[in-house]
Amino acid sequence: MADVLTDIWDKILRQVQKHHSQCWRNWFEQIEPIGLENGQLRVGVPDKSWLLYLKHHCNNYLKEAAQRITGHLITLDYVHTEQDTLSESDFGQYESDESDLLYFNPDYTFKNFVVGPCNRLSHAACIAVSESPGRSYNPLFLHGSVGLGKTHLMQATCQALLKQSHQAQVLYMSCETFVNDFIRAVEEGNLYDFRYKYRYVDVLAIDDIQFLSDRDRSQEEFFHTFNSLYQSQKQIILSADCSPSEIPKLEDRLVSRFNQGLVTRIDKPSYEMRMAILHKKAAMRGIAPPEESISFIAKKINSNTRELEGALTKVHGLAMLEDGTITLELTRQALGEEPTPAHRMITITQIIDSVTDHFNIRLSDLQGRRRSRSIAFPRQICMYLARDLTSHSLEEIGGYFGGRDHTTVLHAYRNIDKLCDNDESIRALVDTLVTNLTQH
Ligand code: ADP
Ligand code: MG
Repeated sequence: MADVLTDIWDKILRQVQKHHSQCWRNWFEQIEPIGLENGQLRVGVPDKSWLLYLKHHCNNYLKEAAQRITGHLITLDYVHTEQDTLSESDFGQYESDESDLLYFNPDYTFKNFVVGPCNRLSHAACIAVSESPGRSYNPLFLHGSVGLGKTHLMQATCQALLKQSHQAQVLYMSCETFVNDFIRAVEEGNLYDFRYKYRYVDVLAIDDIQFLSDRDRSQEEFFHTFNSLYQSQKQIILSADCSPSEIPKLEDRLVSRFNQGLVTRIDKPSYEMRMAILHKKAAMRGIAPPEESISFIAKKINSNTRELEGALTKVHGLAMLEDGTITLELTRQALGEEPTPAHRMITITQIIDSVTDHFNIRLSDLQGRRRSRSIAFPRQICMYLARDLTSHSLEEIGGYFGGRDHTTVLHAYRNIDKLCDNDESIRALVDTLVTNLTQH
């Protein structure tokens, strides 16, 4: 009987792996079938966050596969095994209340995070915080563009903290949830409960804090939450898509609070790191694409890690329509043409050359103090292109253009971005410059 059950379960897993490869993880092999009775398939899952992942992301796929294999309607019951070391109450953190579930992505652990020059400091700071919360860096502020691993690192830190101390009160959420929670508390006249929830935790991690921008009352509330936690040496971890001073319409007192701990930036991964990340993600999904496919993807996708992963999913998905084998040919088929020269390194000097050529001005004009439109506009275009096409920081870009500070660069970027949206001719000009730069 046990053999029959194992056989059924194995077939179910293969079905899911074949048809829903995006959700498949290599740890699925560690799930044990326990019994099949009255249309209910019980499986044992050794890790609570795995269990929640199965429930939230895979339940329908598993049910559908079970039905196909057995020919019967089947429901799944996930049982948390290995509870001997932890008592049920230890999971108050994870599941204090089904409707208010604190759910961590089991993929987002330190073990699954590839460390390199672009994120070394952020990673080290998160490790330090997970080892001694409230005492190493407080607050810890991670920033970087979208898809570079901020959420991954924050959740890894929280999960590590909970592993070490099951009693720790860890609250992780998006800033949007915080704001909505606050608005609801105000509407319901229930600020007491709201404050109790946020001010009596050991660790408060708020993701995408730039969402506070221009929300005066939420900023005010967050300011007091922050102070209360900080004064009792509780750990605060924040992330945003830019540094504290670059968040538009954020009160100065919050900017200065955010800056008083450690502010660290995550940059885009290099080609070598993209290769390493792809290897890691492939291993997690139980696949091993050939080196040439990995290299093709790493060359082709250089924007951010989320897109890198999306590309891998696409290739894997296409392979699963056949016999699962990934080849360079198939990778090409899934992702389109050869990596284009758009992905080669572009330098600020090349950008300056093409802009000065186009506007018939000199480098010294761009670096000088003149603010007339005939100079200021090309200067802003340069800054815009430098931010988009190179991996230099805002400070470095400012440095190239006569030692201007990062807020000037950010302002230039936003200005050109807006102009591109509103003015066809400027959009066309920027497109032409980008095409020339990337193709020559
Ligand atoms: P952000 O919050 O900065 O927008 P995420 O943390 O959501 O980015 O990361 C996007 C995806 O990229 C996630 O699946 C994450 O696991 C992955 N990722 C980003 N950086 C790394 C890294 N250094 N190693 C492994 N995976 C990474
Ligand atoms: Mg994020």
